[in-house]
Amino acid sequence: MIDRRTLLGTLGGVTVSGVAHSVVSASRSARANPAEPAGGLIDLHSHFLPDFYVRDAVQAGIAFPDGMPKWPSWSIGEHLAMMDSCGVDSAVLSLSSPGVLLGDTAQAAALARRVNDFAAEVTSGQPRLGFFASLPLPNVVDSVVEAVRALDDLGADGVVMMSNAAGMYLGNAALSPLMAALHARSAVVFVHPTSPPNAAAVNLGLPASMMEFLFDTARTVVDLLMLGTIDRYPNIRWVLTHGGGVLPLLSDRVDFFRSQVGIKAPTMSDILQSMWFDLAGTPAPRQLPALVSAVGTEHLVYGSDFCFTPLDAVRQQIQSLDASTPSEVFANWRRATSDNARRLLGDI
Ligand SMILES: [Zn+2]
Repeated sequence: MIDRRTLLGTLGGVTVSGVAHSVVSASRSARANPAEPAGGLIDLHSHFLPDFYVRDAVQAGIAFPDGMPKWPSWSIGEHLAMMDSCGVDSAVLSLSSPGVLLGDTAQAAALARRVNDFAAEVTSGQPRLGFFASLPLPNVVDSVVEAVRALDDLGADGVVMMSNAAGMYLGNAALSPLMAALHARSAVVFVHPTSPPNAAAVNLGLPASMMEFLFDTARTVVDLLMLGTIDRYPNIRWVLTHGGGVLPLLSDRVDFFRSQVGIKAPTMSDILQSMWFDLAGTPAPRQLPALVSAVGTEHLVYGSDFCFTPLDAVRQQIQSLDASTPSEVFANWRRATSDNARRLLGDI
């Protein structure tokens, strides 16, 4: 029987998201879509990882983020090299899970400021790069202050929120002041999955990014729907990762349960079609058709998930999309997702 450490090491050597299907399909990619032009991608799911942040996380006892065997390495040079070698024209950087809440809510606000100042500095003078600002949730007041500073003063392209913050999911009424501030600015909110609060009880000893991330994205969007946040703050532009996780498969089921208590609108389908979805992870070949059947293609954007997905795996996932994306879905998935990203964010 393979032991857990060996398994995690193996997984860590491949990717945070797992690319089994990508690896399988990579060998087919050379002959797939031969006329497809390389390059032109806009990457909305792209992670920076400052040294000071990793030091703080390790000091806080987080040596294995979300069950992964180690923190990945990152530098702005490595990031630009990835973009060059994978045909990514521009990218919006964000901090990944676990975000700035490393256990101490009082320190999260200071860490958010430091991370956001770093992101503003590292992207200034880099016309190919933008960033989503981190927020020190679950502290709502500090998060409003930081969101306003980042969006109004630092020039952030939006904010990133973890799918939950110490168990607080995004539909929570306590978040109303933050949602109002984001609504007033028509902000882009990039929802990145993190471990659920009971991760140790349910993750089977596996990295949370393998399964729990896909469930937690769905959990927080259902929370947003059930508690009316999306209706109350319609200007917020929500971006979900990894094709929305298991959301497309839950859509009809959530509507069925709501209809049983007389709630007919908005439907889950209405809500999903108002949101945006990146294609990070393993959308091909089986997840993408389910996502497209639920939301169409006009809100799909590209995401590499670098640096938590290593360079080789980013390449394999791109090849997998080349090989497995039906021409009736996308005549040119690179151009389509980049056009969508420009409609969401303007010229980036
Ligand atoms: Zn990510």
